[in-house]
Amino acid sequence: MPPFLKIRQVGDPVLRQRARPLGLDELASPRIQDLIEHMRDTMRDAPGVGLAAPQIGESLQLVVVEDPPQLQAGLTPEQLAERERGAVPFHVLVNPQLTVVGEDTVDAFEGCLSLSSFVMAVKRARRVRVEALDQHGRGIRIEASGWYARILQHECDHLRGVVCIDRADTRTLATSDNHGRSWRGFTPDSLREAQPPGELVWPSVPEPVDDDGG
Ligand code: ZN
Repeated sequence: MPPFLKIRQVGDPVLRQRARPLGLDELASPRIQDLIEHMRDTMRDAPGVGLAAPQIGESLQLVVVEDPPQLQAGLTPEQLAERERGAVPFHVLVNPQLTVVGEDTVDAFEGCLSLSSFVMAVKRARRVRVEALDQHGRGIRIEASGWYARILQHECDHLRGVVCIDRADTRTLATSDNHGRSWRGFTPDSLREAQPPGELVWPSVPEPVDDDGG
């Protein structure tokens, strides 16, 4: 296997499939243990804060996550606080079950290694609970909020064939370059205010007809 795996881009059918769970024997196999190492190295090289197996062409319920301090170096303490973002050590999730906790949501800009070089506003739950197995097959339970909860939701979505553009406000979509050039410091709401909706004139929606019983 090459040192870095090829990250599949949107349009690749594997990103739209439901990934299958891994059995304990298969998880312990050299193939899957090697795959986890290669996924970790590929995520770090990208760099990204999470990578799901479908993104490297394996339709398996397997995710790696890591949000190291060096990826947060470009953010001010205020930005880190606003995003509720802190360091998350490397860990593996196998067959994760995600549950939303509470009703708070957070709207923020995020990207995806499979939608390379784009950024978009995505509303997500602020708090989640994840029950999964680790890379050794031991049960783990994670309570997360803020940015970590966002990462977990994003990666678990990949296991169900969902990509962040499915949940995005598509009018906030920008290349990372353009986002940095024109929208640095904006929130999703302030971006929407600065860039009001255009006019979608087709297809036209017919006026509702009153049903007078005739
Ligand atoms: Zn992604």
